[in-house]
Amino acid sequence: MGIKENVKAFLDELPKGVLLVAATKSRTPEEILQAVDAGLQVIGENYAQDAEKKADIIGDKVKYHFIGHLQRNKVKKIVEFIDMIETVDSLRIAEEIDKRCALLNKVMPILVEINSGRETQKAGVFPEDAEELIKKISYFPNIKVIGLMTMGPMFGDPEDARSFFVETKKVFERIKSLHIPNIEMKYLSMGMSNSYIIAIEEGANIVRIGTRIFGARK
Ligand SMILES: *Cc1c(COP(=O)(O)O)cnc(C)c1O
Repeated sequence: MGIKENVKAFLDELPKGVLLVAATKSRTPEEILQAVDAGLQVIGENYAQDAEKKADIIGDKVKYHFIGHLQRNKVKKIVEFIDMIETVDSLRIAEEIDKRCALLNKVMPILVEINSGRETQKAGVFPEDAEELIKKISYFPNIKVIGLMTMGPMFGDPEDARSFFVETKKVFERIKSLHIPNIEMKYLSMGMSNSYIIAIEEGANIVRIGTRIFGARK
């Protein structure tokens, strides 16, 4: 099957209320445009440089989510055209986003990334530290926290990822129940090509899909 057929089939299969973000790392603008033609509405970018180049070509037919590890010195560039940053995991990076968005008179919607596997080499804040970080971010006027994102550890059997999705959902519900001013727990971004069904079962309403749309990465 081609990219267009893949996107159409995926969108048909997706439960109502779940948003597809196409993870486009290593894909060409031509490949991405095929997906857009088939109804794709949101693109997920891992690299600031890449994202800017692709956005120049693809334009505002779609929304752009940043889903990669964000470096402080790249914030200035991406806040100009990115519609949501899914990977905020420190006060330091939030501070920079707030500062750069203030200069643009823009409020950036963000998700806080949870390191649900507690893997020291991975990005994200540990589940037990999320609440404190989100409370601090809530004071930034040019950022709005609207949910959580997690990768979870990579497993051959996606069923093994379930407990990490469950734990992230618990953090999501807990923070929601606190009714922190300026915080709206609306989106839970979990699940990739091999794990999205399980992620949706456990409450994801954003899934980030690469391989299943575009084929295996080289
Ligand atoms: C690449 C990537 C995905 C999608 O991975 P696939 O296995 O190709 O579906 C999802 N989320 C992030 C953050 C990624 O970098």
